[in-house]
Amino acid sequence: MVKMEKVAKSFGNLEVLKNINFEISKGEVVCVIGPSGSGKSTMLRCLNHLERITSGSVYIEGELIDQRVSGRDQLKISQKKVSEICTKLGMVFQRFNLFPHMTVLQNVIEAPVTVKKLSVKEATEYGLILLRKVGLEDKKDEFPSRLSGGQQQRVAIARALAMKPKIMLFDEPTSALDPELVGEVLEVMKELAREGMTMLVVTHEMGFAKEVASRVLFMDRGEILEDGTPGQIFTNPKHERTKSFLQKVL
Ligand code: ATP
Ligand code: MG
Repeated sequence: MVKMEKVAKSFGNLEVLKNINFEISKGEVVCVIGPSGSGKSTMLRCLNHLERITSGSVYIEGELIDQRVSGRDQLKISQKKVSEICTKLGMVFQRFNLFPHMTVLQNVIEAPVTVKKLSVKEATEYGLILLRKVGLEDKKDEFPSRLSGGQQQRVAIARALAMKPKIMLFDEPTSALDPELVGEVLEVMKELAREGMTMLVVTHEMGFAKEVASRVLFMDRGEILEDGTPGQIFTNPKHERTKSFLQKVL
């Protein structure tokens, strides 16, 4: 579903990703853990062209969408095609980034109506199904500022799902939340995982990773140091750096 091959990314002289290789199959839930500044967000952002890689290749559903050497494109691909492929990726950020001047339902149907050109009626029907799924149908006419952080994040998940993505990317979806609100968001994510959604989740929630992940990637200083099952990574890490990271967070 998603593959990175020999991906490197620099900001000026700062090498943030080095030789990143991984692949995610359909239905897998892959959690990415690692210290602050190790490149987790950058890796996610390189998947959907929010950042461009410096070198390497990126595939989405088997299609090559980015290939560069020393910052030069090796691939002619139209912006239209890139946008089309990127709609296969749903993204949820740490900060919910809802449109403040729109109601919950308007937030959810905005992209299907403007990007996918669905009718408002059609988008609303599906939007309400999604709001029910995240437990917020009764809040459909509220504005985001009147919702708790956990509720706003659940709206953000519904909004991403409204585009019917093939893969969901989460970048620390619970780390801006008060502790008592983390659980309700993780529950929605677990439900998605149970339904077979392919997910790539950057998280500090080790309990979630242990329970839900089919694989865990440990990143440090721009490299994937470990790629294994939660059992392998949490009980039998290969690297000293993984061990010392886990000692701090577990
Ligand atoms: P955190 O756990 O704190 O979110 P992270 O693993 O997500 O960290 P990134 O946000 O990917 O780390 O950042 C990796 C490195 O890249 C950091 O050193 C960061 O300062 C740098 N970086 C990220 N974005 C940019 C940018 N647009 N310009 C310059 N440097 C950047
Ligand atoms: Mg980050």
